[in-house]
Amino acid sequence: MPDRYLPRAVPFTSTSPSPFTRRAALWGGLALWALPASHLVAATGAAPPDVWPRALQVPGGVARLALGPAPERPVAYAGDIPLLVLGDAAGWTAIVGIALAAEPGEASIAIETPGHGRRTVPYTIAPKRYSEQRLKVAPRTVDLSPEDQARYERERDHQALVMATLTEPPHTNSLQMRAPTPGRHSSSFGLRRVFNGQARNPHSGMDIAAATGTPVVAPLPARVIDTGDYFFNGNTVWLDHGGGLLSMVCHLSAIGVKPGDTLKTGERLGAVGATGRVTGPHLHWGVMLNRAMVDPALFLAA
Ligand code: ZN
Repeated sequence: MPDRYLPRAVPFTSTSPSPFTRRAALWGGLALWALPASHLVAATGAAPPDVWPRALQVPGGVARLALGPAPERPVAYAGDIPLLVLGDAAGWTAIVGIALAAEPGEASIAIETPGHGRRTVPYTIAPKRYSEQRLKVAPRTVDLSPEDQARYERERDHQALVMATLTEPPHTNSLQMRAPTPGRHSSSFGLRRVFNGQARNPHSGMDIAAATGTPVVAPLPARVIDTGDYFFNGNTVWLDHGGGLLSMVCHLSAIGVKPGDTLKTGERLGAVGATGRVTGPHLHWGVMLNRAMVDPALFLAA
């Protein structure tokens, strides 16, 4: 739905005509060039309510930062991590994942536009207090044996490589996802977790209640970039949706794909299970943007 991204009366400023042909045809007769300057609003970051992911500028959320028109897709960074930029010559938007560990307050991204050098685009991260979740799990998954600790560290290093995957951005401006399995969505994203009385990392995904064996499907077109049986996450599949947008599904009872496979939205990749550190069968679904785990609910219609 690229037309959802029509900017609010932002004129073309480039003189190179070719990328604008289709848009110019769509806008024929709108006389944009004749609008008074007061209508030529600056990019505000505000997005219409029917675009995905929805903006929520809190730790674990997503900022949508309007970058204005440019003939070429701008290159954007948070620190040295490249960002997903969507849109077209009439208006680009940086889709910025905000880490759960981000400090509330002023933040910024850097933009490089061919011929225009580098500039920064500021935004504000509002505070969000996530509540606490106390869980009882098998003691060996909280107090790790030396062997398990070594295994966990190997897996963590491997997953860091997987998480750094960066390929071409998706060929769509609509990143509305399909839930990877039917079932009730917990609102447990971001919960500060205490396992058997010990504080651990916050919960960085969405848990979906479903019975063992329920099919798990791709939430968007994807390439499989990793599969494995991991200490905490159990049987896991990582998907690359392009542009640094990844998703992971964990605790599977079965994996039906291998790295390199490509999947359409809704195509089956495995089945719900209870492998890894779990209290029972469910699907853990994580969504990662520019290496930050963000709330998957922001990508769902309901
Ligand atoms: Zn979970």
